[in-house]
Amino acid sequence: MITTILSLILFLFNNNEANNDVNKNENVTKFELIQLPYASDALEPVISRQTIEFHHGKHLQTYINNLNNLIPGTKFENADLETIVKESNGAVFNNAAQVLNHNLYFMQFSPKGGGKPVGKLAKAIDMAWGSFENFQKDFEAGGTSLFGSGWVWLAADNDGNLYLSKESNAGNPITGGLKPLLTFDVWEHAYYLDFQNRRADHLKALWKIVDWQVIESRY
Ligand code: MN
Repeated sequence: MITTILSLILFLFNNNEANNDVNKNENVTKFELIQLPYASDALEPVISRQTIEFHHGKHLQTYINNLNNLIPGTKFENADLETIVKESNGAVFNNAAQVLNHNLYFMQFSPKGGGKPVGKLAKAIDMAWGSFENFQKDFEAGGTSLFGSGWVWLAADNDGNLYLSKESNAGNPITGGLKPLLTFDVWEHAYYLDFQNRRADHLKALWKIVDWQVIESRY
């Protein structure tokens, strides 16, 4: 009888401790994998189902898991993703920036994408590059000439001026005070299954799935 009561007390004690742990973790922001607004095969043939499944389901998930493991106990426990990217460095920055970069990347595509921007953004592109076609060439060249892994970005300052920004590894122009609008991922995992070494061909094909309404809404 006494053993049973002791066991029960021990059980309740341990159970209570477990609940406390859960409660403690609920106060720490947990980042989650974004749901794609299209089916995993919807961007074919530009991006294959297999690439989407690895890139979104494995690579991005890993950055999210790493970030969720890294932030407890740091000053970023309740920070939003953009704040973490702006204020962190080292492993926290690498994983947080890769989550932000991939969220922006995956959400800017649509099977009904392509075409050109309109309105204010179209005007700003014309002003900076002379034409949309010149901008595309410059953007592709930026991504093709980026050595190693990284991201090529279209970004805007507070006055709406546009910039092309080549960033290594996890870089995002948000750390330079710019607003990220459009990005092409030039890490090999983004294109190697579909295009192998032909990075330039992959970048050229991506224009067919860019959703300019999303990019305009970011501007
Ligand atoms: Mn990637």
